[in-house]
Amino acid sequence: MTKDSTSPAAAASPAGPPEWIDIGINLAHDSFDCDRDAVMARAVAAGVVQMVVTGSSGPSTRRAIDLSRACPGQLFATAGVHPHHATDLDPGLLEELAQLAAAPEVVAVGECGLDYFRNFSPPARQQRSFHQQLELAARVRKPVFLHQRAAHEDFVAILREHRAALVGAVAHCFTGDGAQLAAYLELGLAIGITGWICDERRGAHLLPLVRIIPAGRLLLETDGPYLLPRDLPTRPASRRNEPAYLPHIAATVARARGEPLEQLSASSTAATRALFGLPPPARRDMR
Ligand SMILES: [Zn+2]
Repeated sequence: MTKDSTSPAAAASPAGPPEWIDIGINLAHDSFDCDRDAVMARAVAAGVVQMVVTGSSGPSTRRAIDLSRACPGQLFATAGVHPHHATDLDPGLLEELAQLAAAPEVVAVGECGLDYFRNFSPPARQQRSFHQQLELAARVRKPVFLHQRAAHEDFVAILREHRAALVGAVAHCFTGDGAQLAAYLELGLAIGITGWICDERRGAHLLPLVRIIPAGRLLLETDGPYLLPRDLPTRPASRRNEPAYLPHIAATVARARGEPLEQLSASSTAATRALFGLPPPARRDMR
């Protein structure tokens, strides 16, 4: 696909790399405290034009919103409580979360869901917190950013109860099998693919599965600082994942789907903007 270069601005700037949006970056994480600006600059240089900063607790949601306010149009936030922190979601935090979720920088409620892999919070508390956040998402009319690990059955059952009231939803960091993917697609979820797919030991099953995901529902994410792609040509000594590695993940997904990078860039950014209601990015040559 060739870029239209009839406008003077486009003609003046050489075609950059394909554009990407990282829908799951834990940029509020303290591992980014010492060099967050450099991390963001590397992301932009790699074509990652916008990022959705994950809120996974009260404090990380507040920080994600602060970061988004400092970089309008480039960073956006989610507001939520991860199942690990479900026991923190008392009435006070729930009330605060409702206020935070209504902020214009907040483009989704979550990450929320169920995680029985470690059960850092008891399952019953996780389920209650999940119900509460799905109700909140329906109330503020924002999509949900979903997390599920080792809890597929309960997760789908709860989601099904709320699905009709939700404006949209993405199953972030999908690592499941074909049956789980089919269930999610049937529920109308968008699917977030991380660098898990780059792990030949535990992610190879995702290579054929990403071909099944409709282009309009396939979103890309790093989940940094977690899940550093295993097959990077040069792995940082810190083992910290960051948004600049998103094009590497995208290349793996595009190869697996048998489509050009430009096509995946166009479809994944359009799908992301549609789900979260993101504006088009500021022009790169204006930075
Ligand atoms: Zn997660």
